[in-house]
This record gives sequence, structure tokens and C-alpha cells, in this order.
Amino acid sequence: MGPRKGVTRKRKSEDAALVEETEAAKTEEKGGIKGSNKYIGAHVGIQGGIWKAVESSVEMGGKGFALFLGSQRSWKRPALDQKAAEKFQEQCSLHGFDPVHILPHGSYLMNCGSPKDDVFEKSQALLVDELSRCSLLGLSLYNFHPGSSLGTITTEQCVNKIAGAINHAHQQTPAVVTVLENMSGQGSTVGGKFSELKSIIDKVRDQTRVGVCLDTCHAFAAGYDLAAEGGVTAMLDQFDQEVGLNFLKAVHLNDSKGKLGCNLDRHEDIGKGNIGLSAFRDIVNEPRLDNIPLILETPGRPGFEYAEQIKLLYSLCEDKSKHGQN
Ligand SMILES: [Zn+2]
Ligand SMILES: [Zn+2]
Repeated sequence: MGPRKGVTRKRKSEDAALVEETEAAKTEEKGGIKGSNKYIGAHVGIQGGIWKAVESSVEMGGKGFALFLGSQRSWKRPALDQKAAEKFQEQCSLHGFDPVHILPHGSYLMNCGSPKDDVFEKSQALLVDELSRCSLLGLSLYNFHPGSSLGTITTEQCVNKIAGAINHAHQQTPAVVTVLENMSGQGSTVGGKFSELKSIIDKVRDQTRVGVCLDTCHAFAAGYDLAAEGGVTAMLDQFDQEVGLNFLKAVHLNDSKGKLGCNLDRHEDIGKGNIGLSAFRDIVNEPRLDNIPLILETPGRPGFEYAEQIKLLYSLCEDKSKHGQN
């Protein structure tokens, strides 16, 4: 089914009204209750030391954040420095970041579903290394892309490899929860459909150590219509039916450059893409997304960088205390 034109037009005018409202709200102080259960932040850099991620996040007004655990270019990285890890943990507790609101992102080199033996072996080893880094940093979640069949094995074979790599990594490391990200359905990646994520989860032995991070851009590109009226509720209902909300550990907040169902992984700044601001207002007011990290991975153009986008999203949170009095 294609997008419903009339609905899209209505949402566009709603979006325009929201922009005006939020412009007016910019001068107001952020209320204590508004968005107090929402942990909005962004993916921040680790240049100059891993603890710098905490500082950057504080500066932009994030209540949670994401980061890489090392270089994105090499399979074998120098071990994480114990002192740097301690400093990271100190900074987190100093600024009141709880580990459940911090979502490290896995290396893009990894393909735990690879049909190539050497790549699979290296990916499996890197997954163990990354989970060990999380433990050293005192972190409890680890987000990564499930993998790709490269078109030479079936989705089922790919799913088996991914689950195998997760089970292996769970045996080698303690406690950290492996969080699978939904994909845009680009190429031969696995995880565009919620049912594919569920089939991986089903094969993981320790169900307490597996979860999902919902990327809004990827979901929209994969065909889940967040932009429609009630689209956020519908997507979460479907997720609950097919996977289970108990597995939802995080959200990536990204608007989409591409259209619904385009399968393209092209992130856009909040409210500037085809998902639109109304859907993000619904997201930040959705109680089922309370107390989990909500992470921006948008381009962050000059004048509309992460700090501005975080502020905008908090300004969309409705004051629950006012509702209570009405
Ligand atoms: Zn990702
Ligand atoms: Zn993402």
C-alpha cells in the first residue's frame, strides 16, 4: 500500500503549526516535569579520549548518549586503557548518566551474518572484544547491526549465523545486553522486518541479554509508516505483537531523506525529512518509550545541531501535570 496523500497533506500542515509553536516555546524554560522520563541525547565522538563523550553530551543537553568503542577502521584495536575507562565511569556518575541510558554502537566493519568464513570469524571476535569493552566501561547495553547475507546465503542461514555469534559472545563475556538494530532493508541486510529480529532473538539462549533498538529512519525506509496519523502507535503495537515490547531497549531518533518503503538508509535532521515533526512529537510523548535512551544520529547541520534538535524534542514533550489538572 502506498502512502495516503490526504493524510500526508494534513500532517504537513500540522508540522508547520508545530514549528511555530516550538519557536514560541524556545524562549520558555524547560519544565521540570516536561519530558522527565525521556532520555534524549545524541551519538557523540570519542576523539581525545573516551570520557570526552560524556562532556560533549553534557554540553549539548543530552540525558543519554551513544558512542563508538574504538576506531571504525580496524579489526584489531589496542586494548581499552584502564585509566581511560575509570575516567569515563567517573564522568558518568559525576554528571548523573545511568548506564541504561548510554548506548554504545558497534563497529561498522562487523558482519555477524557473513557467508565468508574469515569475515564471520573476525566479526565474532570483534563482538566479544566490544562487549568486554562495555563491561570495562560499566555499560549494560550494546547496539549493533545484525548482519548481511550478501545475497549468497538465505535469510534463515544468515539469522542462524548472527544468533550463533551472539551466543558465542554471551559465553565469553558477562552481563551486557546485545541490542539488535532494525535495518532499512537496503541490499541484503537482515533485520528490516520486525519478524527477522524476532527470529534472531528466538535463537538466543540467554533471553535476558538480547534486545532491540528501533531506528525511526530505518523503520520508515523499511515501510513502517510513522508519518501517518497514529503511525507511531501502530508501529509500536506491531512491534509488541511480533517481537514484544519487553525487548525494546532503545530508539534511534532520525528523520528520513528517503520516502516510505524506499529501503534507503539516509538520515535527515528532525522534522526536515519525510517522517516529519508530528511523528517525533508522538514519539517523545509515548509512555512506552519512557526510561530508555532516545538517540539522535542525524546530520546536525550548522544552526540545527544536536543541541538544537534535543531542545526542540524536549519542547514537544507535553506537561503531564497540566493534563492531570484538566
Ligand atoms: Zn546503527
Ligand atoms: Zn541507527
